[in-house]
Amino acid sequence: MLRISNLSKTYPNGVKALTDVTLNISNGMFGLLGPNGAGKSTLMRTIATLQDADSGTIMFGDIDVAKQKQELRKVLGYLPQEFGVYPKVSAEEMLHYIARLKGVANDKERKELVKALLEQVNLYNHRNKSLGGYSGGMKQRFGIAQALIGNPKLIIVDEPTAGLDPAERLRFNNLLSEIGENIVIILSTHLVDDVSELCEDMAIIAGGKVVQRGNPEDLVLGLENKVWSKRVGKDEVSRYQSEYKLILAKLSGGSMKVFINSDTDPGNGFKPEHATLEDIYFSNIS
Ligand code: ADP
Repeated sequence: MLRISNLSKTYPNGVKALTDVTLNISNGMFGLLGPNGAGKSTLMRTIATLQDADSGTIMFGDIDVAKQKQELRKVLGYLPQEFGVYPKVSAEEMLHYIARLKGVANDKERKELVKALLEQVNLYNHRNKSLGGYSGGMKQRFGIAQALIGNPKLIIVDEPTAGLDPAERLRFNNLLSEIGENIVIILSTHLVDDVSELCEDMAIIAGGKVVQRGNPEDLVLGLENKVWSKRVGKDEVSRYQSEYKLILAKLSGGSMKVFINSDTDPGNGFKPEHATLEDIYFSNIS
């Protein structure tokens, strides 16, 4: 179990990136959902021992992350937001190199591991291609392969599907969902769909604070029968915002639709809607 307790971080320029973040995360896929600038990467980098918080602690089992960085790194698989690759090196060569760095010294063992990883992430047929020629989706799948070396107990993937096209995103998420269940996987993302498809547990972070926490389905159930929608003119949105508890206003089929939160039928042309994780998200970040 990963226990994050009262973690705070202010950058030298005065930006408060994390304020008193406390989260207990068990085995399985955990979604950390939040808008850009919410503090997700700061939290991910702190867990991955790449930067220190100002106060608070992170424990992974018995490992005190800030004090035992090397111990944590031995059990960590990390796919950072900006995953740089050596463009001229092939995927196979690079995996061999990383595996050697991670201590897989035996040639035969390493060969088998690299082959298995390439097959797992569906890049075996592209193993000799240089990484510079990989598409965004292939790079991210390669990123997962390198993160899996050394049988990590904690895997962190930071905004992995940002910039992928829908087919690549689907493929990547399928791959993530196949990683073993007996480890902690943290998926940091601003995409609500990634979390609703993959995660059995989640938190929403906004402005450096945890603003919602729970099982996605339970959170959605809590909002069921309370979401109402109505098509309105684009210039009417601000009026609805002041008159109702607005969840979000979005374009749908070229016209504007407002979604509001109301315990009772608001009348006035509103129709009932099924609650979604998107409603939970927008109810918590604004
Ligand atoms: P997210 O990953 O959710 O987009 P970040 O953790 O990257 O959020 O950023 C949180 C806040 O901290 C933002 O306001 C960002 O501009 C700021 N920030 C991130 N890294 C630094 C840094 N190295 N120096 C100063 N401010 C930073």
